[in-house]
Amino acid sequence: MRDPRYDVLFEPVKIGPVTASNRFYQVPHCTGLGWRYPRSLAALRGVKAEGGWGVVCTEYCSMHPSSDNQPSNYAALWDAEDVCAHALMTEAVHDQGALAGVELWHGGSSTANLWSRLPTLGAGSWPLAHSSGDPVASRPMDKQDIRDLRGWQKAAAGRALEAGFDIVYVYAAHGYLLSEFLSPELNRRSDEYGGSLENRVRIVRELIAETRDAVGDRAAVAVRFNVSDEGCVEGLTVAESREAIALLADLPDLWDVTVPDYWREMGSSRFVKEAAQEEAVAFVKTMSAKPVVGVGRFTSPDTMVRQIKKGILDFIGAARPSIADPFLPRKIKAGRLEDIRECIGCNICYAHDNRAVPIRCTQNPTMGEEWRRGWHPERIARRHAEETVLVAGGGPAGLEAARALGQRGYAVTLAEAGAELGGRVSRESRLPGLAEWARVRDWRLGQLTKLANVEIYLESELSAAQVLDFGFQHVFVATGARWRRDGLGRQRTTAFPGSELANVLTPDDIMDGHRPEGPVLVYDDDNYYMGAVLALKLRAEGLEVVLATNEGRAGHWSRHTGEQEFTMAALIEAGVEIVTNHGLDSFDGSEVRLACVFSRRITARPAGSLLTITSRAPSDSLYLELAGDPKRLTEYGILSLSRIGDCAAPGTLAAAVYAGHRAARRLGDPRDEAAELPREQPCLG
Ligand code: ADP
Ligand code: SF4
Repeated sequence: MRDPRYDVLFEPVKIGPVTASNRFYQVPHCTGLGWRYPRSLAALRGVKAEGGWGVVCTEYCSMHPSSDNQPSNYAALWDAEDVCAHALMTEAVHDQGALAGVELWHGGSSTANLWSRLPTLGAGSWPLAHSSGDPVASRPMDKQDIRDLRGWQKAAAGRALEAGFDIVYVYAAHGYLLSEFLSPELNRRSDEYGGSLENRVRIVRELIAETRDAVGDRAAVAVRFNVSDEGCVEGLTVAESREAIALLADLPDLWDVTVPDYWREMGSSRFVKEAAQEEAVAFVKTMSAKPVVGVGRFTSPDTMVRQIKKGILDFIGAARPSIADPFLPRKIKAGRLEDIRECIGCNICYAHDNRAVPIRCTQNPTMGEEWRRGWHPERIARRHAEETVLVAGGGPAGLEAARALGQRGYAVTLAEAGAELGGRVSRESRLPGLAEWARVRDWRLGQLTKLANVEIYLESELSAAQVLDFGFQHVFVATGARWRRDGLGRQRTTAFPGSELANVLTPDDIMDGHRPEGPVLVYDDDNYYMGAVLALKLRAEGLEVVLATNEGRAGHWSRHTGEQEFTMAALIEAGVEIVTNHGLDSFDGSEVRLACVFSRRITARPAGSLLTITSRAPSDSLYLELAGDPKRLTEYGILSLSRIGDCAAPGTLAAAVYAGHRAARRLGDPRDEAAELPREQPCLG
């Protein structure tokens, strides 16, 4: 039964000529699918609507070939073929009683037009603003270009209507073309589109009018807009944000508001917490009678209710919470709060869109697989036979496998060597900034306690003989991985001289509570989060710390999760010295020798300890011993044996959870997996 405190979240809300059935609003968010994978996209959005989101939007959608974002997988509404593709999505969303929204986008100086090879258009002439760093600059738009832009928005809005969209956006945020016009720094125009705020806002006003002209009273017009608070270091000033909203106040049917700093809007949980934009967006409702949506990685229904009751928002906007749990609204509605799979704020979802590949999620392994594999976040096939399963290892892979196998109805036994479940995620979530990652374990534990057919044994380190003796029919080995001590990684393929010394440490040693001697040299060739997290931890404990990396910046890979710049800032602020472009040469117990990756020139650094963060080696001895004698497996009645997660191939948390889930789905499935993985062709014929 739903708690009446949450009733307010399920009230219908009018957005101009259309009405949302509740206040749950999936804002436009990237998926890495876009125009290339229309069926995958439609299925993904359809599942969100099924999960109870009253509004489901598609991702940024190019209005015209003068702005393409290849190699990223952006959406497009350029022609009739695109209309067909989007109609798949709007049908899937409408079938579930939700409204479908589209965010018409022109990237301005942010896109290199690598596909169309048309000149990039901008409010002025600027080198490309976003991360691609392509060596081109935009062409300043003249009056004809601006007339064209108005026409493109209007025509695309017309196509959006044909495709069945209920909400059509004017996208004036996130540094794209309209943000350039709004910006007092970038917009140096001397015509009626530059100078005063009224002039800079003109283009937004005109595009609202063009959109309204195209959609009439058949769809709502939304504006996505950046507003600033004192904490914002880019975009309009606080005063100009207010004035801009006042100038446009009731022209759109909906305000979708966010802060100018994208990395604050969707920062990882290491750096940004729930409802972080509250202060910045709170004023918008005082300036417009129109409904307001905003995001804040909301997963707590109490926080959501507070946003509504305090008059900050009318809609609870969400991208990541809806990715981690597409059924979040339904679970609140049914009073099943303990079943909500809360986002951990790791930004793996964004990282993969950023890499131009389909979305994935650490918490929700079915994300992006709704069409391709036919996976549903809540439903799973019944067991194929009344057979028994042993899962050895209770880390993310083992927990997810046991949970999903239990959901399928198998008699499952999960044995964990340690005194607690969660494996690496339990250990890592105790590191500074990573507390929310424990949600990966906690959600699975909560689900497992509801499954009477799953038995869990702690402090049960299994040997091969025990596994054979137990008599289970299927065995999944999920025994994880350990950090290497010998320095093998991307930069070194052989152990470094000195790796056997007692003051060479790994992240596992630190997580086991070992306190190193200072000064500590952290050598990071993993280049994700671990190096920076441990360097900051040791520094906070008062040790002198040098972070050396073979890359040009600390946390090089974490640029994909939007953490890299925060990481550098945090290290610099904490007084961690950063040595870039140097590989590990050797250690003599008191001095680390680093080699320049270009010149090979050696630099020596004094070190009381060397912490190597290079790569993890699979802990696969149990699996290898069992797999080494297939005849014996048959004699003991074992029908299948497999290794999953880090024990098979060390990777991200998302990969381990996915591996556990996939293994559970595949059990008893006779299909050849490779042959059954459909490759989606974008052409609908
Ligand atoms: P993954 O990310 O693949 O789930 P983890 O390293 O997080 O891997 O978890 C592996 C878990 O397996 C750890 O909790 C570890 O204690 C446990 N484990 C390792 N060897 C055994 C074993 N022989 N029997 C039972 N559990 C084991
Ligand atoms: Fe949240 Fe991480 Fe899933 Fe993204 S990948 S939705 S940040 S849990």
